Amino acid sequence: SAKNAGRNVCRFFNQDLLTSMVERRQMEEALRHALDNMEFELHYQPKVRLDDGALSGCEALLRWHHPQWGWVHPSRFILCAEESGTIVALGRWVLRQALMQARQWDMAGQSPGAIAVNVSALELAHPGFADHVEEQLDAVGLAPARLQLELTESALMSDMRGAASVLQRLKNLGLTLAIDDFGTGYSSLSYLADLPIDLIKVDRSFVHGIDHAPPRRQTLLRAVLALADNLQLAAVAEGIETPQEADFLNDAGCPLGQGFYYSCAVEASAFRQQFLRPIRA
Ligand code: C2E
Ligand code: MG
Ligand code: MG
Ligand code: MG
Repeated sequence: SAKNAGRNVCRFFNQDLLTSMVERRQMEEALRHALDNMEFELHYQPKVRLDDGALSGCEALLRWHHPQWGWVHPSRFILCAEESGTIVALGRWVLRQALMQARQWDMAGQSPGAIAVNVSALELAHPGFADHVEEQLDAVGLAPARLQLELTESALMSDMRGAASVLQRLKNLGLTLAIDDFGTGYSSLSYLADLPIDLIKVDRSFVHGIDHAPPRRQTLLRAVLALADNLQLAAVAEGIETPQEADFLNDAGCPLGQGFYYSCAVEASAFRQQFLRPIRA
């Protein structure tokens, strides 16, 4: 009966909740040890110019290899790392690792262009974040212009005034700033005028199937690209999976793209082999 069904639903719901709470505690605990145990790795996804497919840079994406659970993707652990505060230490590791990798490729005469690192709200809000970035750039000896930070709209909105001053400091260091997942943040657009942003990354939800999408969706995407262009912001289309999507975006004037059509994120050695060419002496 309906009553029994209702009880079952309820029991399942509680069980799921309990399971997820246990999982959460386990994950928090596992995350605490993961850095010391060196269970993390950075993988790199190319960013390309849409007109000729040339490499324009790369994005560092975190991967966690847990001894029992195997590969765990960021969608499963970043939130937990943020809520437990582990993200601050983790983010520091990510930044250091990415800078050292870029430097290493440089030394081998194989520059990957700008290297992008994702930064979450809690890291950005952490006092001393800008100082830390400056120190790390100095320590590794990489030119600030080679580093790009990707921030989400929600990370900026949680403390707009705080974010504005940190962003200005980062900008003064000479690095570039990108808005990640642009168009999904349900926020006011006014920050685009107020903050020192260099680039927007148009969210994959706008890109998926765009070549055969209804005209109004195509118009919306074109309008977003025109907005970026008029504000003199570069634009990267995220999540390009087909040549048709790539062609559409190129025709619509989007300068840069990223997605499985070009490559998923791959480990450093594979990135070097597939995308970096030695500069001829
Ligand atoms: P994001 O920064 O927007 O990264 C793009 C995500 O889309 C990545 O997932 C990437 O693997 C995936 N992706 C790339 N191309 C395609 C495509 O063509 N199709 C589809 N379906 N997906 C594509 P990933 O690596 O699982 O990362 C998820 C999110 O986790 C990232 O979204 C980012 O917000 C966060 N994240 C990843 N690494 C870090 C990190 O080092 N620090 C912080 N704070 N967050 C990170
Ligand atoms: Mg990103
Ligand atoms: Mg993104
Ligand atoms: Mg996205």
